[in-house]
Amino acid sequence: MKTLQFDPGREFAQALDRNDPLAAYRDEFTFLDQDMIYLDGNSLGRLPKQSVERIRKAVEEEWGDRLIRGWNSGWYDAPHRIGDKIAEILGAPSGSVIVSDSTTVNLYKLVRAAVEARPGRRKLISDELNFPSDLYVLQGVVTGSRSDLELEILPSNDEIEPDLERLYQAIDSNTLIVTLSHVSFKSGYLYFVPEIVERAHRQGAFVLLDLSHSAGVVPIQLMEWDVDLAIGCTYKYLNGGPGSPAFLYIRQDLQDQLRSPIWGWFGQKNPFRFSLQYEPVKGLTRFLVGTPPILSTIAIEPSVEMLLEVGIERIRDKSSRQTEYLISLFDHVLSPLGFKLGTPRDPDRRGSHVSVQHELGYPISQAMIHEKAVIPDFREPDNIRLGVSPLYLSYDELWQAIERIRLLLEEKLHLKYPQSRKRVT
Ligand SMILES: *Cc1c(COP(=O)(O)O)cnc(C)c1O
Repeated sequence: MKTLQFDPGREFAQALDRNDPLAAYRDEFTFLDQDMIYLDGNSLGRLPKQSVERIRKAVEEEWGDRLIRGWNSGWYDAPHRIGDKIAEILGAPSGSVIVSDSTTVNLYKLVRAAVEARPGRRKLISDELNFPSDLYVLQGVVTGSRSDLELEILPSNDEIEPDLERLYQAIDSNTLIVTLSHVSFKSGYLYFVPEIVERAHRQGAFVLLDLSHSAGVVPIQLMEWDVDLAIGCTYKYLNGGPGSPAFLYIRQDLQDQLRSPIWGWFGQKNPFRFSLQYEPVKGLTRFLVGTPPILSTIAIEPSVEMLLEVGIERIRDKSSRQTEYLISLFDHVLSPLGFKLGTPRDPDRRGSHVSVQHELGYPISQAMIHEKAVIPDFREPDNIRLGVSPLYLSYDELWQAIERIRLLLEEKLHLKYPQSRKRVT
């Protein structure tokens, strides 16, 4: 597709849609409310139509009819089977990704395993751009069984981009693991991974990436980049549905060296022998714990198959064009209204959402939802995140979303909303 010269009018957005090679995929998703503009696919992806049929089949035919026999016709294998498909999205070999638990729990399992594997090292490194839940897990681990551990959380310059020099300086021969979010949840900053891995490996440290905000929308090459460990969730750009289980990745040569801190029967060598002595199975299956949530697990599969069919490069191409378009609209419409950009302008350092900041960000985000049917989300202290999920979002929706924000400010509708927070924003 040729790059068109930006024009702030709606006709330009509609021309971009006509030129969009992925436009047809919108029909693969459920749109009940045609007026609602959904910019929160980075928190919970839309429902793929094929998932509706897959879930119906799992409930009515598998649970309803096969009952316990379902375990031998697709349930037991689901975490591996779907893990292998996610592996393809992550540039990882078959047998190196498994679906299990939540992202937070998987982080705990992998960090604890890394800590046990490196008794001589003390320092865990992360940064302020990482997801709070990840930092909580790290705080919990360093106050746990090994009292010699320390956690270094590096500050960012401006809460938008990391201070990479400081990060590189912090990595030394005492470093056990460096753990970062590939795309930062607030600013959308995208790390250049190979350099971080090289610096960490030179000092003998592990690298663990949280791929929650990049899996399914940003090209990832875990094997080529030589990443040691990774985790991520499936309900964002992978459209797996609310609370769908997460994935974890372990580099193949590490799988038999690491042990899960939670010894459960799904990680046992022969779970159905019911031996009373734990012995971990070979490979990353040992990081399974107990019975997986089967309905939620298989709900992930149709969307992952669709992403593989489209190809991440094409998705990234549209995502980059759409965030670029959104930033052009920001410059033209929102910046004069007092908004600041909370996301890197360099497309190579940007994931798939754009944060716009305003001192009245929270009431504005509430008015967007309740007055104008535009759904973003809000992240403290003043970030309105506009998520771009390219498979189902049109350029025209982006244009309309910005126009609706302009209108609500003109009509002062945000002044109806107090500063207090809802529980889930
Ligand atoms: C969404 C997200 C999570 C979610 O963790 P859960 O355990 O699924 O609640 C974790 N890390 C990052 C970076 C995220 O964006």
